[in-house]
Amino acid sequence: MSFESLGLSAPVLQAVAEKGYTQPTPIQEKAIPIVLMGRDVLGCAQTGTGKTASFVLPMIDILAGSRGKMRMPRSLILEPTRELAAQVAENFDIYGKYNKLNMALLIGGVSFDDQERALEKGVDVLIATPGRLLDHFERGKVLLNDVKVLVIDEADRMLDMGFIPDVERIVGYLPKLRQTLFFSATMPPEIKRLADRFLQNPKEVTVSPPASAGTNIVQGLTVVPEEDKREALRRLIKEQDIKNALVFCNRKRDVAILQTSLKKHGFNAGALHGDMSQPARMETLEKFKQGEIQILVASDVAARGLDIVDMSHVFNFDVPYSPEDYVHRIGRTGRAGRTGHSFTLASPAEGGLVEAIEKLIGAAIPRVEVPGMDAVAFEEGDGRRRRGRGRGGRSARPTGDKPRGEKREHREPREHREPREPREAREHREPKEHREPRQPREPREHHEPREQRAERRHAEPRKERAERPQRERRPESHQGRSHERHGGGRDERAPVGLGDHVPAFLARGGR
Ligand code: AMP
Repeated sequence: MSFESLGLSAPVLQAVAEKGYTQPTPIQEKAIPIVLMGRDVLGCAQTGTGKTASFVLPMIDILAGSRGKMRMPRSLILEPTRELAAQVAENFDIYGKYNKLNMALLIGGVSFDDQERALEKGVDVLIATPGRLLDHFERGKVLLNDVKVLVIDEADRMLDMGFIPDVERIVGYLPKLRQTLFFSATMPPEIKRLADRFLQNPKEVTVSPPASAGTNIVQGLTVVPEEDKREALRRLIKEQDIKNALVFCNRKRDVAILQTSLKKHGFNAGALHGDMSQPARMETLEKFKQGEIQILVASDVAARGLDIVDMSHVFNFDVPYSPEDYVHRIGRTGRAGRTGHSFTLASPAEGGLVEAIEKLIGAAIPRVEVPGMDAVAFEEGDGRRRRGRGRGGRSARPTGDKPRGEKREHREPREHREPREPREAREHREPKEHREPRQPREPREHHEPREQRAERRHAEPRKERAERPQRERRPESHQGRSHERHGGGRDERAPVGLGDHVPAFLARGGR
């Protein structure tokens, strides 16, 4: 099928041709005619499938021919991260070059003033992250009652990042009569319920089974002791023919540590995480895209939707907490029909997470050896691990190791390993449940940006938060965590029920 047969206008077709695309991707083929008809779309598609153009191209035609009024955008695209929002804006620039549409990008980490000026000029296409959009809305800088087309992109990621309440609020401000395009890589029941509320008689478009991993990605997994992961990563990088690689860490703090370590060992490595300023994030991304940085160590949120067609490798320095993240992560490689490679470094304690991933993708991830390093097996809950094949693996090739259920042969003393902080302490973040009830708002600039808060929340999966004992979920002030941090440790014998006002004679206890 050709682009010409989809019903797009001549200026859009011209821009697509100049971009060098000759054939629509499956999602484009299916979605574009439906969007042009004015129908709602429920799209189940991952990034990397050409999903962005599947809504950008028809939107350009739908919006052509009239103009947005001051502060009243005619269309709204909600994206979970700044990078994704910026990427969508880039798509409008490329494909809309023969249409004179006004666009505004409302993302955190950059000045409000420029964004306000853009809104005042009248906007046809408004691309925003939910938090920053609400900030502008609350200041009265944007009105949403003229929005004719709404796109909710990466809905499952919005859910993971805790943005759904914001999205629901925003949708509540929009006119009921509108066209809604709703995209998600996966369709868990919560997302489906949301889609049912937001969409009217949508046409469902699915281009790959939910949460399936791309078939043109050669995957590998190796189990190494946590403290050997950096060494293992370096060996893998040296062994592989790497053009450019993304290395994912679960925690922001580890992103910075790993980048420093890689640089110290002579690798050309950059870092991308939510604590960086927006200009610094953009600069790093640009350098990575231009090939000035070869290895980019990143957190999930920062690297979400990163569109680099020719990325050769993805490494998971940690097994992601959520199995869907595994699919998203490795989906950064093997794009546009090219073969990609992904390697996952799992620690012996991460067997449960690997199991969840394998269940989701419906296949075992092939086990590979790291040259010159011992393979170990997953723990079985008693802290023991089994030596694998011993030294001498030559390459990162399948070992045939069984992932689970093997009998352990002998214990290895743990004492020589560096002590690790408990996971809860490592995840220095405030879970959603801790937040105080909403107070009257102060001007936003004094707050931590929503995206950043979301990234902190994202560092810990919802399930894990929910399962954490109530005691640990209480705010720091009630837990004496600062005391813990200074080496004191919490007095488990402290009497309960007296809050922070435990009389000294009771608190001291005594055996
Ligand atoms: P997306 O899923 O929107 O992130 O797109 C993934 C990549 O595919 C981007 O680099 C697009 O520029 C590229 N792409 C989009 N449409 C096409 C097409 N019809 N043919 C080839 N590549 C495309």
